[in-house]
Amino acid sequence: MFAPKDRQEVIVPVRLDESSPIAFQCSNELSCFTKCCREAHIILTPADIIKLKNKFNMDSSEFLYIYTGLGTIENTELPVPVLKMKEDADKSCPFLVKEGCAIYEDRPLTCRYYPLASGMFYNLDSSSKENFFAIIKEPHCMGHDLGEEVTVKEWMNTQGISVLEKINKGWTELILRRKSIGTFIPIPEKTKQMFFMGCYNIDAFRRFVFESKFLDIYEIKNSVLDNAKTDDYEMLKLSIDWLRFTFFGDPVITLKEQYVEGDMVEND
Ligand code: SF4
Ligand code: SF4
Repeated sequence: MFAPKDRQEVIVPVRLDESSPIAFQCSNELSCFTKCCREAHIILTPADIIKLKNKFNMDSSEFLYIYTGLGTIENTELPVPVLKMKEDADKSCPFLVKEGCAIYEDRPLTCRYYPLASGMFYNLDSSSKENFFAIIKEPHCMGHDLGEEVTVKEWMNTQGISVLEKINKGWTELILRRKSIGTFIPIPEKTKQMFFMGCYNIDAFRRFVFESKFLDIYEIKNSVLDNAKTDDYEMLKLSIDWLRFTFFGDPVITLKEQYVEGDMVEND
């Protein structure tokens, strides 16, 4: 579905923006039905993981362990979970059933975008700070040029993409900032681990906040903590602020007085 690195030739090298027209219609009556759900390279965003781990009533650590492998976001060295395909002959998606997608209402953003690819994950223009898109044309997919023409923006709205992108906004901005720095400055392993926990393993981050020295070090409003205790999306906002503060020094979190001077902050 999301073209893997060795199949980037399926990406049509035309840069689209939100006002560009596309015509595409998927249907269970097409002979290609569910072919796109095999050997797929599907990255999972923070919003996807929260939705899915809650759907399965799992801790995010357990969900990541069972369903994902590790990938890297191009031109950033930043880690990203990738949905593990089954080890059957077709290498099919673990959520694929005879009738189609068993998690359709909660399907990942990558699946919602298809046949669009979001430019930020591709090396189409690594210097760009604006999101843009490309069409993926896989030979088996028969949905192209079917149905009514809509704009990319309309497509995003009908697929429920815009709502999820809003949740992912802080994560996306971190990626774009890292991209603008360039990979010639390597990221320490510990920084990658912090990014991974803060963006994807939200239950581990919650334990880090409430069960480590975190609250001795950082001044966090009680109202923020109360909300984040039970709301994963609120916890994601806190984790993104913490990453912005620790990576870039953005003044979105305050250190407690005794930690303001010197290099006393130790996050573990
Ligand atoms: S039209 Fe494309 S997206 Fe739809 S089922 Fe066929 S291969 Fe998959
Ligand atoms: S999550 Fe659903 S739509 Fe996406 S690849 Fe798997 S079965 Fe297909």
